[in-house]
Amino acid sequence: MFDIHEKNLVLYGFKEYALETLQLMPSTYSRYEVILEDFLDILISEKVENDNFVKIFSEANISRITRKTNSVRPTLINLLDFYQKEGFLEDETLYYKLLNIIKNVYSSQKDSIPLKENTNFLTPQEIRNLFSDKVIYKNRQESLLVPLISSLAFFCMFKQEFILNLRLDDIDLKNKLIRNIRRKDNLHLVEWIEMNEITYNYLNQYWGYRNNIEVNSNYLLLYDKNQITNGHITNLFGSLNRNDNKDLVNSKKISTDILVKSMIFYILDATDGIGIYDILLLQEKNKYFYDALNEYLSIRKSENKDSVIKQYSLESILRKNPIKPQIGLYSEIKDINIEDLEAFFMENDRNLQSDKITIQRLVRDSRIAQSLKQFYQHECQVCRLKLKRADGSFLTEAHHIKPYNKKHRGDDRKENLVVLCPNCHAQFDDSYFAIHPDTNKVHCIFGEDDPKHETPLLILEGHNLGVNYLQYAWKEFERKKQTL
Ligand SMILES: [Zn+2]
Repeated sequence: MFDIHEKNLVLYGFKEYALETLQLMPSTYSRYEVILEDFLDILISEKVENDNFVKIFSEANISRITRKTNSVRPTLINLLDFYQKEGFLEDETLYYKLLNIIKNVYSSQKDSIPLKENTNFLTPQEIRNLFSDKVIYKNRQESLLVPLISSLAFFCMFKQEFILNLRLDDIDLKNKLIRNIRRKDNLHLVEWIEMNEITYNYLNQYWGYRNNIEVNSNYLLLYDKNQITNGHITNLFGSLNRNDNKDLVNSKKISTDILVKSMIFYILDATDGIGIYDILLLQEKNKYFYDALNEYLSIRKSENKDSVIKQYSLESILRKNPIKPQIGLYSEIKDINIEDLEAFFMENDRNLQSDKITIQRLVRDSRIAQSLKQFYQHECQVCRLKLKRADGSFLTEAHHIKPYNKKHRGDDRKENLVVLCPNCHAQFDDSYFAIHPDTNKVHCIFGEDDPKHETPLLILEGHNLGVNYLQYAWKEFERKKQTL
């Protein structure tokens, strides 16, 4: 039962947790402390058992807090975290349930909490507005830098420190590539990433301007002829909270942090979490990653999922019928449905008119595979089989000639794909088969022993196989042959 003694124990434990584990500023902690005292007094008067977390964080009890400041929500969330991290609250499902109760109670009271404090993520509509011509800038520098920095943070998920330090030779404008500067600390990350059209367009515009600045500097982003700083970026984003623009982002304070986090969150959400793998190819597990993952899990696990989803206006990017990964089938079943993401960006929005937003291939473009299968009318390019399922659809699979995975890093261009029946596909994945780069004939690792050896691959006009991919796979095939 909560009493004075229990209250002091919680206050003492929470203080240690807040100042030492969370490293909160003492001034922040003081704001939380007064609310916590208030809350603990309520628990004493309600005679709540000190391990009954459902009661402690019940809507009734947390609503009784008399102070209505912005600090109530973080105080309660930190208290809940404290109970969890210190091992008092072990039930993870319960943790998320209670977290959502807190979030619901302290987000619907709009009069007590300003909207900008309401969420740490941007909604799809706010993102669309940000990259639209609705934003009004005061000068050229602002109009070039704000969208460019925003797109580097959002689409490339670069944290601010990296953006500040981008150099001219980190950009390959001709090939639309940008160096993944995170890689210097993590060699398993990919080295270059593709820019999407939006980033490319902003960079292209800035490039012309940058080249006319007479200055001897290798840094890409300059502010009044100097390397851009954190302070400059804060000022630049301030332009989005001016009266002209603030409605576009619902008065949320825009920062590179919120942009990076939002993108990670969208990917997790649009891919049912599967995109995690692709995110990790691009970046280390950092604070943003955990924030976004936590938010995603809290929505997925919450019982009042719908209301949380509405709170973030995420309806438009959530899948209507999530595709469940099926064990034992080719991994393409797990392939990401980019259409959802694309739809939310493109939907009735002429401001984002680029015809292709690939989100840096974070998400596998299964549409290319889909259209290629249709192009071959679901006929296996090796054995010409057309396998039908019981529901009338066809059972074909797309094979990446240069494998799409962390080790081989193939990609999803149709030049790297062939359409196969499941049998032939399994044999390709096993390097039992390979395509000869000069003849486009299928070779079997045991040569003449297999009747399909030297079968010419069915290749329709309009689909050319990339020689580099073929050579890559051929080398793997030869290597495997040596080991026989
Ligand atoms: Zn086949």
